[in-house]
Amino acid sequence: MSKETTNGGKLKELLMPKRKNAVLRLDEAEITRCDEFCEQYKVFLDAAKTEREAVDYALDLIEKKGFKEFRPGMGLKPGDKVYVNNRGKAIIMAVIGTEDIRNGVRLCAAHIDSPRLDLKQCPVYEDTEMALFKTHYYGGIKKYQWTVIPLALHGVIIKADGSKVNVKIGEDENDPVFCVNDLLPHLAADQMKRNLAQGIKGEELNIVIGSRPFKEDDLSEAVKLNILNILYNKYGITESDFLSAELEAVPAFKAKDVGFDRSLIGSYGHDDRVCAYTALMAAAECENPKYTSVTILTDKEETGSDGNTGLQSAYLKYFIADIAAEFGAEGRTVLSNSQCMSADVNAAFDPTFPDVMDRRNCAFINYGVVVTKFTGSRGKAGTSDASAEFVGKVRSLLDRNNVIWQTGELGKVDMGGGGTVAAYIANLNVDTIDVGVPVLSMHAPFETVSKIDVYMTFRAFEAFINEK
Ligand code: MN
Ligand code: MN
Repeated sequence: MSKETTNGGKLKELLMPKRKNAVLRLDEAEITRCDEFCEQYKVFLDAAKTEREAVDYALDLIEKKGFKEFRPGMGLKPGDKVYVNNRGKAIIMAVIGTEDIRNGVRLCAAHIDSPRLDLKQCPVYEDTEMALFKTHYYGGIKKYQWTVIPLALHGVIIKADGSKVNVKIGEDENDPVFCVNDLLPHLAADQMKRNLAQGIKGEELNIVIGSRPFKEDDLSEAVKLNILNILYNKYGITESDFLSAELEAVPAFKAKDVGFDRSLIGSYGHDDRVCAYTALMAAAECENPKYTSVTILTDKEETGSDGNTGLQSAYLKYFIADIAAEFGAEGRTVLSNSQCMSADVNAAFDPTFPDVMDRRNCAFINYGVVVTKFTGSRGKAGTSDASAEFVGKVRSLLDRNNVIWQTGELGKVDMGGGGTVAAYIANLNVDTIDVGVPVLSMHAPFETVSKIDVYMTFRAFEAFINEK
């Protein structure tokens, strides 16, 4: 193309290409494909509200696709599909490629934990003839958003004999639900003077679980006793069994289409099950890739990725070392030549709150998958900051595969910020970049995403792990 042109319009097109709403770039058949893909995503959202349930869902799906549990020394060859289940709360799956593993693997890492209310270790109490649970919130929440909504209880209780009770109450139409109460406006004069962060305090996030006393006169804590009796009859548990339990209160409602045009999905826990689902689907459909594809669905991102199921633990490094050993290679050689899409959500521009965003750099609903070079806050603290070279590769990969994508910095400089697992993977000497779905009302009980953006995120992971 000649570098000289006298036509301003054409010159502008060449030098100042404009981003465009994906709806205007896709034909009807492609938009229908986005909508259809999201029907199954909604099923996943309702079936997998916790990290444990997401792992169960993933296992069920990939075992049908021929994935086998990895055992060191089992012998691996191109086309093989294996997984490791980390304590039922995180999972790594791999499809072995034709390329020498020393030339690196393609990693996609999403998290399957979401903000919620966890029960404390001694949760059950009675106050003034009401029975309640004490909670400790998990992840960064605006506490006032978690009152007066129906909550379901999910998790496990390990009894003294080691047996496990699975709990899931509040999801079936006929189940009871639970809730955190709030003060009526008539008597909230003092509360209304608190700032938003203090509107509901951590110790006020108490969940109502019953109100009828055990029928016997002059019995103290009779409501608590009655509730524990119900639990004893249903699960065979006593109050001490809560000591060894992981019980999570999550919104009881289901994923729904939002808008007259049904373009959006509202649900609990898009962050980050939207990237977990899209990465999982790309992995499940991956056959005979060139580079070995490794997909991680991890736990504990929302509390900082610490602990043995979070990505600051060594479980990913160990897995890479173990599959490298199958080919007589070193884990560090594999990691040093690997590339990673850290699959996590980013904030979408909200027209009601425009002031927090730099319109020139933030992500928009229906503009496709977001590619984020750096995260962090106050001078990029905590970011891994993908290299220009790696961003260049990703950009060209997405364009070659007709994936609609955008960039997205999380808010204005010095407005706040956030991080993802990207830094922990990059710290293993892996080229890493953040890729994911833009979300409205992130960390709220009901978050919103665009169906087109969800599908484009799937297409991005698909293109990445199947690159020849
Ligand atoms: Mn996230
Ligand atoms: Mn988050």
